[in-house]
Amino acid sequence: MQLLKNRILKDGIVKPGNVLKVDSFLNHQMDIALINEIGKEFKARFADCPITKILTIEASGIGIACIVAQYFGVPVVFAKKAQSINLDGEMYTTKVESFTHKKVYDVILSKKFLGPEDHVLLIDDFLANGCALLGLIDIVKKSGATLEGAGIVIEKGFQCGGQQIRNMGIRLESLAIIESMTDTSLTFRE
Ligand code: 5GP
Repeated sequence: MQLLKNRILKDGIVKPGNVLKVDSFLNHQMDIALINEIGKEFKARFADCPITKILTIEASGIGIACIVAQYFGVPVVFAKKAQSINLDGEMYTTKVESFTHKKVYDVILSKKFLGPEDHVLLIDDFLANGCALLGLIDIVKKSGATLEGAGIVIEKGFQCGGQQIRNMGIRLESLAIIESMTDTSLTFRE
């Protein structure tokens, strides 16, 4: 998506540890006009899928997922990071290692909001090593819902997540795939 790539080149900042900061337009301050275009693009790419729910993970996926969901006309559900797991059987649970915080979280989703009748599109801001997406995929599996695919705004193609998810046979659409990045240069995969 050229509009997004141009914006990354203009306003993205590469930080040590392979972290790209896009907090001026995507995940802290949010440019709603741009995210609307992102929503339209995901709708076009998944137009053939009977999506009934969009699933994301807190925190930075939520705002993007909400705007995307308006183009699909379906609810958003988000996996919550939990301090402790209440094993009363009401929740799907899984573990996710955070790329940015280097911590393992338990994440939970109420069984009320996802079940075998659902067709799910996963949405997140970044794909790096794939832990966040793999956690969401595990929750979808546990729920018995159909996973239609995953929509990622920025994939860091030099990390292993994208390859792993594609090798699982999951339909993955990333709007910008970064091939390499340094302090002074950033290149995209064609
Ligand atoms: P993964 O689980 O694929 O390793 O990382 C995905 C999650 O880590 C995303 O939800 C995102 O919040 C965060 N993340 C990974 N890489 C970056 C990055 O380069 N920049 C920012 N801002 N967040 C990232």
